[in-house]
Amino acid sequence: MPNSIKRRGLMLVLSSPSGAGKSTIARLLLNDKEKLELALSISVTTRPRRPSEIDGVHYHFISTREFERLRDSDELIEWAEVHGNFYGTPREAAENALADGQDMLFDIDWQGALQLQDKMKGDVVSIFILPPSMADLKLRLHRRAEDTEEVIDMRLRNARNEIERWRSYDYVIVNEDLNRAYHQVQSIVTAERLRRDRCPGLFDFVSNLLDEKLD
Ligand code: GDP
Ligand code: ADP
Ligand code: 5GP
Repeated sequence: MPNSIKRRGLMLVLSSPSGAGKSTIARLLLNDKEKLELALSISVTTRPRRPSEIDGVHYHFISTREFERLRDSDELIEWAEVHGNFYGTPREAAENALADGQDMLFDIDWQGALQLQDKMKGDVVSIFILPPSMADLKLRLHRRAEDTEEVIDMRLRNARNEIERWRSYDYVIVNEDLNRAYHQVQSIVTAERLRRDRCPGLFDFVSNLLDEKLD
C-alpha cells in the first residue's frame, strides 16, 4: 500500500501471563530494523520500578494518590489492578497518536484489553502470548531475576486465570522459539495494516486510478 494513502492508526494489544515473553517481543517490535514504526503506549503504574527499568521509558512510575487523580479525572483510557498494583493507559498520548495515523503497541493485561476492545472497537488488534508449558513459564520468571520470590509465586498463581482469557483475543501465539513468535507478530501487523476497512484513503486512490487517462 503506498504511504500516501491515509489510514487511521491501529492499536496492537499484547497480553500474556507474566513471564510468557510479551515485553521481550514488544521490545523487538519497537527496535525493529525493518521499521514497523510502532510507538509504545507508556502506561502509568504504582508498581515499584525494576532495576532494569527507566521511568518514562518502560512505565511512568507514580504514587497511588497520583494514579487515583488520573483515573478520577478520566485521563486513562483503561485501567486495572494487576498482581496487587494499579496500571493504566494515558488517554491523550494514545488518542493523538491514533488520529495521526501512528500505530501503537499496548502491553496490557486482559482486563485492559477488554476495555479497549469495548471502547475503541475496530481500532484494536489483540494478540495473546502463551508459554509453551507452565514449567517454562516458571523457569522464565526465575531466569528473568527481576522480581522477588514472593512476587514470582503470586504471578505464577495468577497465570492460570490469565491464560483462561485467551478466547477474547483475535490471535494467539505460542512463544516457544522467540524469533518465530516475533515474526508471527510482525506478520499480523503487516496484514492488519492492509485491511480495507482501515484505509479510508483507498476511496480516493481507486477513484483516481479509474479516472486515469491512458494515451
Ligand atoms: P510483566 O507481566 O512482567 O510484563 O509485568 P508488569 O508488572 O510490567 O505488568 C503486569 C501486568 O500488568 C501485565 O499483565 C501487563 O500486561 C499489565 N499492564 C501493564 N500496563 C498496563 C496498563 O496500562 N493497563 C492494564 N490494564 N494492564 C497493564
Ligand atoms: P512478560 O513481559 O510476558 O512478563 P518477559 O518478556 O519479561 O515476559 O520474558 C520473561 C523471560 O523469558 C525473560 O527473561 C525473557 O528473556 C525470557 N524469554 C522470552 N521469550 C523466550 C523464549 N521464546 N524462550 C526462552 N526465553 C524467553
Ligand atoms: P532487560 O534488562 O533485559 O532489557 O529487560 C528486563 C525486563 O524489562 C524484562 O522483564 C523485559 O521484558 C522488560 N522490558 C524491556 N522492554 C520493555 C518494554 O518496552 N516494556 C515493558 N513493559 N517492559 C520491558
